[in-house]
Amino acid sequence: MSRNLPVVPRPAADRPDLLRPTRRATPSVSVGGVLVGSAHPIVVQSMTNTDTADAAGTAAQVAHLAGAGSQIVRVTVNNEEAAAAVPKIVRRLADEGVTVPIVGDFHYNGHKLLAAYPATAAALAKYRINPGNVGTKRRDENFQTIVKIANEHAKPVRIGVNWGSLDQDLLTQLMEENAKSSAPESARAVTIEAIVRSALQSAELAEETGVPHDRILLSAKTSSVRDLIDVYRELASRCDYALHLGLTEAGMGMKGIVATSSALAILLNEGIGDTIRVSLTPEPGGDRALEVEVAQQLLQSLGLRAFSPQVTSCPGCGRTTSVFFQEMAQQIQNYLKSQMPVWRDRHPGVEAMEVAVMGCVVNGPGESKHANLGISLPGTFEEPVAPVFKDGALLTTLRGDRIVAEFTEILDRYVAEHYPSR
Ligand code: SF4
Repeated sequence: MSRNLPVVPRPAADRPDLLRPTRRATPSVSVGGVLVGSAHPIVVQSMTNTDTADAAGTAAQVAHLAGAGSQIVRVTVNNEEAAAAVPKIVRRLADEGVTVPIVGDFHYNGHKLLAAYPATAAALAKYRINPGNVGTKRRDENFQTIVKIANEHAKPVRIGVNWGSLDQDLLTQLMEENAKSSAPESARAVTIEAIVRSALQSAELAEETGVPHDRILLSAKTSSVRDLIDVYRELASRCDYALHLGLTEAGMGMKGIVATSSALAILLNEGIGDTIRVSLTPEPGGDRALEVEVAQQLLQSLGLRAFSPQVTSCPGCGRTTSVFFQEMAQQIQNYLKSQMPVWRDRHPGVEAMEVAVMGCVVNGPGESKHANLGISLPGTFEEPVAPVFKDGALLTTLRGDRIVAEFTEILDRYVAEHYPSR
């Protein structure tokens, strides 16, 4: 039985080098002091859904997202009121001690707004430009106006192609060329090529206009998982720009989380992606910061970054007929989450801790031995005791009504001993 299994090293915690894919080499881009590129940890970012013109409301949501761990926050700058509010938002945040870089998202009128509101151009840490939404007749001129302003303020730009607003002239041109070809590609292949080419041609134009290579990031988002994977693989093979990864319009709830994770996990595991955003449709009244939590969990599940202690818990089965085990797994998870704001600063490294909460002795002791701390609850008809393992060895056996409370005390002691205060 698993009680007699030998203790083997924990690969996730002890050998991260074995798990981490080689990142595709990209330059370091400073976004308001946050470094994005292959020499740095993959950056988590998010976007507000408040009316940017509401400076107080937007600043509050930015602070909330930053508090949840978003390292960069994007706000839409869609009209004059929004543009005028940006410096106020940045000031409010600074007054509260929130220094997260704010990125401006521009469509259609970015060239006008950035020219008319120099304080906004200065306050933003980066400009996102959608090359499909900078006009048709004066497309290049408008695009160049934005990147020239970016240059004047030494700001990086993200050229963010989105398949839903793809440059239709380019798509039509490629479709026509394809139709005349002796070996035409599928419409899907041509669309993917148009998405990739839109990003690369815009980056080329930005560099011709004077933007340094290491002040350009690219994204090329689709809402289809398979298309996204093909687009980014192609993009990654044809340039070395830092890449912002995300499945656009991923959807709501479980669908959005699973679709995003499916796409991003494959790309991240191939070393593609320097910063990620999870684009979830919030549930009515839901927490916008869920997208930050999902992004963090995705990176931590892949062994790429650590944000908070992980709880390994079994699904339970007929051997755990009461809800006690589920409640305990949840209580421990909640306890870890509630402690992290304090532990993060006081106990550096605690985010890599692993805790196992198992439902019975079948896999309980074996899984517990692989965690930093593990508890194996009594299954149905088992002796009512809960063995606790610390770094692979039996530490104690808990009994009675205070199992959760005693286990959290053990957790506190472990954290204090193994992740000493700064
Ligand atoms: S560890 Fe025990 S309770 Fe949990 S799933 Fe396995 S057999 Fe069931």
